[in-house]
Amino acid sequence: MIDKDVDLRSDTVTSPTAEMREAMARAMVGDDVYGEDPTVKQLEQEGAACVGKEEALFLPSGTMGNLVAVLSHTGRGDAVLLDSESHIFYYEAGGASVLGGVQFWPLEGLHEGGGAVEMIKKGVRPPDQHFAPVRLLCLENTHNRLGGVVMPPGAMEEVCSAARHLGLVVHLDGARIFNAAAALQLPATDFTRHCDSVMFCLSKGLGAPVGSLLAGTTSFIARARRNRKLLGGGMRQAGVLAAAGLLALEHRHALQEDHRRARELAREIAALPGLDVDPFPPPTNMIIVHTAGANCSPGEFCAFLAEQGIKAIPFGENRVRMVTHRDISDEDIGRAINGVKAWSLHFQSQGSRGGDRP
Ligand SMILES: *Cc1c(COP(=O)(O)O)cnc(C)c1O
Repeated sequence: MIDKDVDLRSDTVTSPTAEMREAMARAMVGDDVYGEDPTVKQLEQEGAACVGKEEALFLPSGTMGNLVAVLSHTGRGDAVLLDSESHIFYYEAGGASVLGGVQFWPLEGLHEGGGAVEMIKKGVRPPDQHFAPVRLLCLENTHNRLGGVVMPPGAMEEVCSAARHLGLVVHLDGARIFNAAAALQLPATDFTRHCDSVMFCLSKGLGAPVGSLLAGTTSFIARARRNRKLLGGGMRQAGVLAAAGLLALEHRHALQEDHRRARELAREIAALPGLDVDPFPPPTNMIIVHTAGANCSPGEFCAFLAEQGIKAIPFGENRVRMVTHRDISDEDIGRAINGVKAWSLHFQSQGSRGGDRP
């Protein structure tokens, strides 16, 4: 029998558990656009409580959750400050610019090096007819492109209070906020209390097949509900999805296991000649492997691993990403370790194309 591939490309690749599928089959449903789906309501209530907000809204994706958040906090012609490597700026098709007439002002290194407050102060220009008024700051925690890095609650508080003093509201792209909470063993509310709104994904490490929640005040969620409808995101008998989402929420307490497995795999990779892992150790469930020292392109590295039944993904120049998640077991980590070791042997036997590396 051929083993199933060990899929480390993303934590979005999980399949719903047998328990989820049963709950989906049994779910009580109604028309949620009429406000009549009890399972969606339950998910929205429990989700809001997890992040300490008054209300929450169930959406088909995190991308729509962030877009609805930006649309609900801003008007046409407003400017939004955010990190230049943030998911909203980098991976969401410029949605808020296209659909909301909002201008993004990307800040380089907002989540690195502790200069965030100064950057935000500089970013908010004085009232002047030349300048688009800055209304909103978006943060991301954990940070995807930086490698699952956690912004601790103290830093969030500092940045958010600076933003508030400048008259901004703050949205947190907390797609993986429960990974941040698990990493520091703190309640998620420690991270979310200083933000006006937070989006988190049920369909990443938590393992739901579909869905994200956007949480905030009651009046904010009322605007968000309207904007979700505007975008075509009003769903009808969505309780079948929410039923899986409720079980996914419970899984937030188990994310440390994904982090432990990421550290184990990272330790083995970092010990191999030619490969680096940075950040090391991985702070949460993402491993960023740097292949420059091996003189091997990310594509070549991933292609070799794919032959061993290990899926990883090229992640920019000289970088490969591996992500642990609910469907990755200790045995899978063992197979992944064997895969990278096989690459290392192959690489050494070929002789380094980079010259006389030791
Ligand atoms: C995945 C992700 C999103 C978007 O979620 P989708 O459900 O894939 O649309 C938003 N922000 C971050 C940081 C993410 O990693």
